[in-house]
Amino acid sequence: MALEKTLVLLKPCTMQRSLAGEIISLFEKKGFKICGMKMMMLTDELLSEHYAHLASKPFFQRVKDAMMTAPVVALCLEGVDAIAAVRALAGPTNGRNAAPGTIRGSYCMSFQENIVHASDSPETAEVELRRFFRPEEIFDWNQAIFPYLYANDEF
Ligand code: ADP
Repeated sequence: MALEKTLVLLKPCTMQRSLAGEIISLFEKKGFKICGMKMMMLTDELLSEHYAHLASKPFFQRVKDAMMTAPVVALCLEGVDAIAAVRALAGPTNGRNAAPGTIRGSYCMSFQENIVHASDSPETAEVELRRFFRPEEIFDWNQAIFPYLYANDEF
């Protein structure tokens, strides 16, 4: 168990569908602390880096283009084991296969237009948070309800 920070992006489909507030609210209600939040328009250059692991796929350019059709909201979320917990809440990549109750399972029908991006490992989270946030845009603040989110041996 470790207190971790992870990167979430609310994708352009989420903005177009006016779901940003609802999705942010789900993360808040689950118990993640928002340590950073900003709206940004992504570039092909940044997305080529962010999605480098998909560079050989036939849909690489299409995925990048979709991520530039509207601004995204970038979130830095913190919690115990937050990286895996956010991925579990997001559900698997293809919304059609995602279980009801997960974000993708509840809000989308698509492989590509799948509401959120979420970092998939501690190494990735560190690199991705640096890619999307300057250090001064991440806030380490004390959330008063912390003792009600976790037992004192859980962090
Ligand atoms: P995840 O976002 O679940 O970590 P990946 O890193 O494999 O998944 O892919 C990044 C994004 O690229 C996905 O969220 C999705 O938008 C898109 N994508 C991945 N695989 C496909 C696919 N087979 N068809 C369409 N879009 C895809």
